[in-house]
Amino acid sequence: MVRGRPIALMLPLILLCGATLAGQQPRSTTAQTNPRWLEAYREPAGRLIGEALSDTFAWRRLATLTDTVGNRLSGSPQLDRAIQWAVDEMKRDGLENVHTEPVMVPKWVRGAESAEIVEPTHQPIVMLGLGGSVATAPDGLQAEIVIAHDFEELDARAAQAKGRIVLLNVRFTTYEETVRFRMGGASRAARYGAVAVMVRSIAPDGQRTPHTGSVQYTNDAPPIPSAAITSEDADRLQRLVDRGSRVVVKLKMDDHVEPDVPSANVIGELRGREKPDEIVVVSGHLDSWDVGAGASDDGAGCVVTWEALRIMKKLNMRPRRTVRVVLWTNEENGGRGGQAYRDQHRAELANHVMMLESDIGVFRLLGFGYSGNNTGRQTVRAIASLLVGVGGTDVFPTGGGADISPSVTEGRMPALSLDSDDSKYFYYHHTAADTVDKIDPIEMAKCAAAVTVMAWVVAELPERLGEDLGATR
Ligand SMILES: [Zn+2]
Repeated sequence: MVRGRPIALMLPLILLCGATLAGQQPRSTTAQTNPRWLEAYREPAGRLIGEALSDTFAWRRLATLTDTVGNRLSGSPQLDRAIQWAVDEMKRDGLENVHTEPVMVPKWVRGAESAEIVEPTHQPIVMLGLGGSVATAPDGLQAEIVIAHDFEELDARAAQAKGRIVLLNVRFTTYEETVRFRMGGASRAARYGAVAVMVRSIAPDGQRTPHTGSVQYTNDAPPIPSAAITSEDADRLQRLVDRGSRVVVKLKMDDHVEPDVPSANVIGELRGREKPDEIVVVSGHLDSWDVGAGASDDGAGCVVTWEALRIMKKLNMRPRRTVRVVLWTNEENGGRGGQAYRDQHRAELANHVMMLESDIGVFRLLGFGYSGNNTGRQTVRAIASLLVGVGGTDVFPTGGGADISPSVTEGRMPALSLDSDDSKYFYYHHTAADTVDKIDPIEMAKCAAAVTVMAWVVAELPERLGEDLGATR
């Protein structure tokens, strides 16, 4: 469902963003943060926001990517096409130093997959194999299920797990709390002799949609086939078992791993006018899972961060420092893009002023997560206060992202994430339903505006983000 509104409705926002802020109370998180130095950035911020909101360019670019290329798993021809498309489009935008940087990535291929209840009744189970899963035998495997609701219960039922399919039926609370059952459930069950694992999808309940994602096998147990099933099917299996039935499931998966293949991070820049060697990075990951269209995860993050450079270029605003957009490869099932960047850019990590990643969707803009020192936090809060007209003034206690993490850790630099309301994100995350129609063009434009203003001011400040201001202000 597209929830777009006519462009005309955006105009009052544009007016709000410029010089009309006087008299408006900043939100609590930005209290005490309207330092005098900020005034110089109000007018350019208003221009950048106005350009971002003047058009639904970002949404249309994402729709082009997801409609014409589709999903983009590492090692797939679609990801290769997306990389070439991004290079061509960045050049068309007039970005500088547009190039790819080679990365070897894992290649996992989903084959035909199915699951069904065969006792006490014949019924299909809606499932998706977990990324990286091994196959079953060609004619499938069939076994009684045993259910556990956390790892402690699985440990306690070790004797019953032998020869069975373990169903980890863990209700979703937060992604951070429950993703470990998808990642680590297979090896934990295999240690007790389980022949396969089914995991209740790591997502809120809804619409009988299975959510894929990585499984991580450990070396101390044989890899066993691993699949996500829908919350509805998990509940049904639970009810059957609760009624005392012996429940037998047949699982058939033809998934496999192939040798690593070449891929690439995509890079474009606006070179700094005074300090071109100092770098501000904004980024998202171009790869996705192999279902859906990789719109929210993370085509949208790629486009809204890339927008920062396109908009500055379009307005002929060249920042003091270089602003670099990086579209990462292989976030989903390897993280090789982020690692390769750290290795390839080791010599210039000390010149990285800040890295930002957008990888939690682009829904209703909230603001930014920030990890770094308190001086930098005050500066980020002040910059975010320029976003009052688009609703992006919150600064949360931690920021970062899977792809920037290797470089941030080694280079010890401030890390930001773009934060929007993620209450819908996990309904679509890693599913066939991750398509562009879930994204509102105006919310997306506001997210692009936020990244653009943050990148501009950080690249423009006399001192590096987090440096003591001293006499410069
Ligand atoms: Zn992602």
